[in-house]
Amino acid sequence: ATKTEIIAVGSELLLGQIVNSNAQFISQQLAENGINVYYHTVVGDNPGRLKQAVKTAQERSNIIVFTGGLGPTKDDLTKETIASLLGRKLTTDEEALRSIEDYFVNVNRPMSENNKKQALVIEGSDILKNEHGMAPGMAIQTDGITYMLLPGPPSEMKPMFLKYGLPFFRKALGRNDKIISRVLRYFGIGESQLETDIQDLIDGQSNPTIAPLAGDGEVTLRLTARHQTEAEAVKLINDAEKAINERVGAFFYGYDQTTLAEELLRHLRQRGMTISAAESLTGGLFSDQLTAVKGTSDVFKGTIVCYTNEVKEAMLGVSKKTLEEHGAVSGQCALEMAEQIRKLTGSDIGISFTGIAGEEPVEGKKPGTVYIGLAVKGRQTETHQLLLAGSRNGIRKRTVKYGCHLAVK
Ligand code: ATP
Ligand code: MG
Repeated sequence: ATKTEIIAVGSELLLGQIVNSNAQFISQQLAENGINVYYHTVVGDNPGRLKQAVKTAQERSNIIVFTGGLGPTKDDLTKETIASLLGRKLTTDEEALRSIEDYFVNVNRPMSENNKKQALVIEGSDILKNEHGMAPGMAIQTDGITYMLLPGPPSEMKPMFLKYGLPFFRKALGRNDKIISRVLRYFGIGESQLETDIQDLIDGQSNPTIAPLAGDGEVTLRLTARHQTEAEAVKLINDAEKAINERVGAFFYGYDQTTLAEELLRHLRQRGMTISAAESLTGGLFSDQLTAVKGTSDVFKGTIVCYTNEVKEAMLGVSKKTLEEHGAVSGQCALEMAEQIRKLTGSDIGISFTGIAGEEPVEGKKPGTVYIGLAVKGRQTETHQLLLAGSRNGIRKRTVKYGCHLAVK
């Protein structure tokens, strides 16, 4: 069986200046490919301690992936340390050297001597091209262990790993099956509820695997299937998706990287409807999410950010009586905000957001108290009260998601 471990090299990781997102990325990719990762190690830019970490890894793993320390500076010592442990020399990779020289010609700067160091590779290794930086990666197989060295910057490491690293592993392990992944996205159901509803499917499935992940008020399921043919892998995923959504389909809203805002825009476009917003609590965040998607002006007309009572009254026309009797954090205020913005803009839908993001109670109401108003042409205006927990920004973000979710219905 393959036993993989990842060693991230870099003192800045130990100092807490950056998080080890490289290990996370590589682990996710390997897990999807059925390659088991057993350990993550972080070690500083120190040859003695790095040596010690490699020796420990050699005792228990047959694949060791390194990230970091391939650069030109003195503290970059990963390849030197591994070369010395394996009793191998460092030699210049001519192709890497040429591309480094080309780079300096291109930017019209002189190349310094230590940049040449980046073209040094461990003798007898397979070179993994770096198309986004200068230091090439390497893979070495010796004494039953595979060593893979990757650069530290994620912008270089990730594409290199996907294009060269993963295929190297798959070939070495004799894998030539096709792997297909699909992410199913859910909103309005908690992670534990969703998992409970489909626990038997998760437990009973090995192809595709079903991996739940929660964050930002959403739950996702990543389905990964493998098969000799792509068509069969897709069919395995389709079947699993159908079985899952027979149970929890009411909360399903989209695939892969889709956002609730995109889903809302798609929905409106399909029905030929327009929307406008009145935003107090969210301060423009709803508008921000919608306009982050390109070409939305056909369905999104605009927003009024009405943070104070004066602006709610003067710009939107919320009645003084409502503000005095119910307060700004009230269903009645949300209702008027939604109806007024719809009227002012002539949109099919007016949506409003008012509430308390934190941290102090307002008008005697708890932080996390949120009202969303929804005025839809030809329908009675609805208001929804939410009681959200979490940080100020978490509450604001989730409020926008709820708004998108409600407006789709
Ligand atoms: P460079 O040529 O840029 O020096 P390198 O291969 O020597 O690359 P490092 O010097 O170890 O890599 O790290 C460079 C940068 O890459 C770090 O400052 C950090 O921003 C990022 N980085 C390094 N290791 C990790 C990691 N494990 N997770 C996330 N980011 C990392
Ligand atoms: Mg470096």
